[in-house]
Amino acid sequence: MLRVIFGGTFDPIHNGHVTTSLAAFAELEANQMHVVPSAQPPHRDYPGASAGQRLAMVKLAFAECPGVLPDDCELRRDGPSYSLLTLQEMRRRWPDDNITFLLGNDAFAKLDTWYGWQQLTEVANLAVMRRADQDTPWSPAVEALYHQHGCDALSQFHQHRQGQILLLETPDVAISATALREAIAENKDWREKVPVNVATYIEQYRLYGL
Ligand code: ATP
Repeated sequence: MLRVIFGGTFDPIHNGHVTTSLAAFAELEANQMHVVPSAQPPHRDYPGASAGQRLAMVKLAFAECPGVLPDDCELRRDGPSYSLLTLQEMRRRWPDDNITFLLGNDAFAKLDTWYGWQQLTEVANLAVMRRADQDTPWSPAVEALYHQHGCDALSQFHQHRQGQILLLETPDVAISATALREAIAENKDWREKVPVNVATYIEQYRLYGL
């Protein structure tokens, strides 16, 4: 069983997240994808929508997607939403499965700033999506990590429950949540960047200064 874990702030979830993660899910030939909004993002200022609202938008965004399961484990846990703790929890739930943490290249490029980053590959595989418009160079520590754990073939990736890093050929979708929140605040060209039911939710609750 190959499980993808896609974590993020999703403030709000947008078509960049949805299109690229579904492409990754297909490319990885995975069985399930767990989408995990963070409760208390360790790397950012406090988000514009509450954790409950962000989870609700994630549920709407993937409502029609078989095999994709929004997961509230970080909302139920106290303390900062470190991905390592989530992956350890997933590993306890499914000791025998291939658990693959999915992230964009901008996040992977500075992975060495994350809590317990060297242990991530001890509990999971990593799959890295292209990130359009964000050409973040990898830090030397991330280069070294890839040198040690990089894997070129999906067949090899499938054989390991953890410890592999695969670079994916996901499509370029140049949308970021930061730019999107600004566009919503100005009520300018934002609706086509989120799923239709997410746009309706943002309008209903007048989020992000709309
Ligand atoms: P912000 O612009 O505020 O940093 P974001 O759009 O990157 O937000 P996050 O919730 O921080 O959204 O991202 C969650 C994960 O999704 C991260 O691993 C990030 O790299 C990835 N991601 C976000 N947007 C895209 C995109 N357009 N293409 C590929 N990956 C993306």
